[in-house]
Amino acid sequence: MGLDITWAVDWVRLSADVIAEHRIELITLDREIGDGDHGENMDRGFQAVLPKLDDLPAGSTPGDVLKLVATTLISTVGGAAGPLYGTAYLKGAVAAGSAASLDGPAIAAVLAAARDGIVLRGKAESGDKTMIDAWTPAVDAAEAAASNGSDAAAVLAAASDAAWAGAEATEPLVARKGRASYLGERSAGHRDPGAQSTALLLQAASDAASA
Ligand code: ADP
Ligand code: MG
Ligand code: MG
Repeated sequence: MGLDITWAVDWVRLSADVIAEHRIELITLDREIGDGDHGENMDRGFQAVLPKLDDLPAGSTPGDVLKLVATTLISTVGGAAGPLYGTAYLKGAVAAGSAASLDGPAIAAVLAAARDGIVLRGKAESGDKTMIDAWTPAVDAAEAAASNGSDAAAVLAAASDAAWAGAEATEPLVARKGRASYLGERSAGHRDPGAQSTALLLQAASDAASA
């Protein structure tokens, strides 16, 4: 079964909930290897989207919701993550197009476009200890699931599991992009906050699909 506007709105609401719930954890992770604001930045952004969901016109599509998230994150989050996530949701919106419902391959294409947008903007490669280390395994898993005929919810479940594994795998890495790279070798031994928030957001996407 394809995922429609109800899923997209539920995803945003669950994202706002889960980011608020994990605000301190994200702040703590960012305090270890950055400037300690990632939880605050993300919480501000997602709380700002919530009231705007009520103003979506009838007939809005998942792509419209992704575009609303993009513009809100770009104008409210700031730092590195604001423009990076903003670009991700914007490219995801373009990939979703005007479809009322997204099937497995369409969901995989949205995630791939989002990841590609982050790479285009931030120029991080796999292993640089950034959110890309959660996004790329998630995209790979989503594409594999979609090509095996999995439905959209199963594609998101695969993406979420892979994002969690990817976030965990950032722990031993030495950062080569973003603020954490200023620490050099001392960045090893800590999980990347942006990879953690990516796992939380993709988990929310999966949870919204299975609700
Ligand atoms: P800032 O570092 O400006 O305070 P945040 O704390 O909100 O911004 O976000 C930090 C996160 O952004 C990092 O944990 C990392 O995942 C991500 N990040 C930073 N630079 C890049 C980049 N060039 N490409 C991809 N992700 C990046
Ligand atoms: Mg920060
Ligand atoms: Mg900052």
